[in-house]
Amino acid sequence: MGMTTLENARALLATGPLCNSCLGRPFADRSFGLTNAERGRALRTTIALADDTDYEPDDPETCWVCEGYCGTFDAIADTIVDALGDVHFETYQVGTQVSPLVEENDRLLREDAGLDPEVGESLKREMNREVGRRVGAKSGAEVDFDRPDVLAVIDLDGFDSFEALESDSVTSHAVDVQINPAFVYGRYRKLERDIPQTEWPCRECGGSGVQLGDDGEEPCDYCGGSGYMYDTSVEQVVRPHVVEAMDGDEGTFHGAGREDVDARMLEEGRPFVLEVKRPRERTPDVAALESEINEAAEGAVEVEGLRLATYEMVERVKEHDASKHYRADVEFSDPVEEDDFETALEELRGTTVEQDTPQRVDHRRAALTRERTVYDTEGELREPTQAEVRIHGEGGLYIKELISSDEGRTVPSLAGLLETDAVVTALDVTGVEGEHEPFEMKMYFRDEPRSDA
Ligand SMILES: [Zn+2]
Ligand SMILES: [Zn+2]
Repeated sequence: MGMTTLENARALLATGPLCNSCLGRPFADRSFGLTNAERGRALRTTIALADDTDYEPDDPETCWVCEGYCGTFDAIADTIVDALGDVHFETYQVGTQVSPLVEENDRLLREDAGLDPEVGESLKREMNREVGRRVGAKSGAEVDFDRPDVLAVIDLDGFDSFEALESDSVTSHAVDVQINPAFVYGRYRKLERDIPQTEWPCRECGGSGVQLGDDGEEPCDYCGGSGYMYDTSVEQVVRPHVVEAMDGDEGTFHGAGREDVDARMLEEGRPFVLEVKRPRERTPDVAALESEINEAAEGAVEVEGLRLATYEMVERVKEHDASKHYRADVEFSDPVEEDDFETALEELRGTTVEQDTPQRVDHRRAALTRERTVYDTEGELREPTQAEVRIHGEGGLYIKELISSDEGRTVPSLAGLLETDAVVTALDVTGVEGEHEPFEMKMYFRDEPRSDA
């Protein structure tokens, strides 16, 4: 041990009674692998031997810098683990709010001893690490500074250090435990029409289900008192089961875009993420959850490929560029020849169409022209005036307008090429597919691909 280190330690001890952590903390950047308390104890021992004086063990209760808080690491960790109770978590992080008074002591200690006021580390850092290590040992979880399952914030002003040293315990008020949301990814199919993706409050009563009548409140005429525009939604079918399986407080549905309420969502389905707030359970049996949702939905909605997802999957489903596959029933005003029909589909295949904002979308909005590519087309003329058309198009392509031309606002269009009016009588989305790479990539999942899927 160099003379400077010993001299600095003597100068620190000369400021008043110190605990080993506070004595060792200014040397925190020396000898990786030691705790500050071990550093402090070694310095104290070395000085006692060098001076041949009696060794006096430290006593956090008398430490003028931390005022006893460095003796409460174990008690705080116990309180955190208790506060998390039966919450299941794999990663955690500990944060500390240190009172300005104690922070000032930490600075004064260095100043009084003639050291750099920033040397070593802060009490806050030591507290986070030492309490964190104990929480890890007690819970078996791993520390994660990026996005932990749970976050515990200690408020040192929230408890009295001397009481804590006496009773070996810390009041739960001094610890704020936050449970971060958990995420389940899947794809949904909507096998019936007139089901919105997310819950849709009644536009007349705002979701209250009541209106003001002559004799006071009565059930809303518009929604029949349900508070909703439609009986159910994909969200309402999926959410309660996921929230319950993860023992959470509430859930939010995030879809990769949405189809019209009157369109079905078939075949490959549409990616979604269900976000569960304050989950006590983070690893539900997703295969069982999937069966449970599908049984309860009785065929109106189906989910597939449920997996545990990361936080980043929310942005992935909301922002990832996706192309769409559609199936449309089309009616023509005039009979169409088979050859003309095939030729028109061929012309649309691979073409870029110009679409003015559809009249149905927003009457107040200034017309914008957008360009979108039609990747692929297929079709079957069932009768001279009826066809089924399948289209794979770039995200944002308006399909009903691609068929009808929207009074010439979409060019080219099926109606325009066939020189007859054409209208979509039923529309289904049959797939939502990432443009450049798939939605479902390994980095967005917390579990392995399912073997039963
Ligand atoms: Zn101390
Ligand atoms: Zn209503």
